[in-house]
Amino acid sequence: MGTLGDDRQRAGIGMTSPRTRARMIERLREQGIGDEVVLAAMNAVPRHIFVDEALAIRAYDDVPLPIGHGQTISQPWVVARMSELARNGRDLDAVLEIGTGCGYQTAVLAHVARHVYSVERIAALVAKARRHLRSLKLSNVSLKHGDGSHDLGETLAVDAIVVTAGATHVPTALLRYLTPGGRMVLPLAQGGDERGVQRLTVLDLTPAGLREQTLDAVRFVPLLPGLA
Ligand code: SAH
Repeated sequence: MGTLGDDRQRAGIGMTSPRTRARMIERLREQGIGDEVVLAAMNAVPRHIFVDEALAIRAYDDVPLPIGHGQTISQPWVVARMSELARNGRDLDAVLEIGTGCGYQTAVLAHVARHVYSVERIAALVAKARRHLRSLKLSNVSLKHGDGSHDLGETLAVDAIVVTAGATHVPTALLRYLTPGGRMVLPLAQGGDERGVQRLTVLDLTPAGLREQTLDAVRFVPLLPGLA
């Protein structure tokens, strides 16, 4: 054991091999993900490098996993579904993600958009995500330690905003970053109850105003105010 590098050990176990990732892609197809650009991005990003070594053998299971600081990496289906909704069949120029966590969704988005801005409120996770993204040599990503439930104090114009933490209400301060025709995707608590059911919600900035669609039931850690 001791003489093999980590990657070779894991590859030897066979649970983090490209074949395992290909099986994940097949499962995503069966679960209804049809956007080939998103499926190719999910196939390109090695999910096991985003979780602790002890959890790497579960990295391609369709489950959320702990990433420290009481937070989780979202399950593959959720990441694919949100990316697919954000893309909505379009080529994306810039995307804003709220809730970087370990950076997995950020990396997937970096394969479907020209540039990804991602904001995380926990400083230690910003550092962790930065390590992961650097190891994948993804250079079209900007990370920020900040509170994405409020205005970011930035000049940004993005085609899509992906909020990856459960909100009790729409973070309307972010809508001004959307270009016309832009779309926000977020898990929104139903009835404003943060412990209850959340549903993936899509808000489209149309010429006639905001159009809202309520989609799949999901479970996310909460969108919290302030920095940590
Ligand atoms: N996108 C991640 C999901 C991480 S979990 C993935 O690919 O798996 C959600 C993350 O949102 C947590 O890291 C949490 O700290 C962060 N978060 C919660 N509230 C936030 C806020 N107001 N601003 C920025 N990040 C926030």
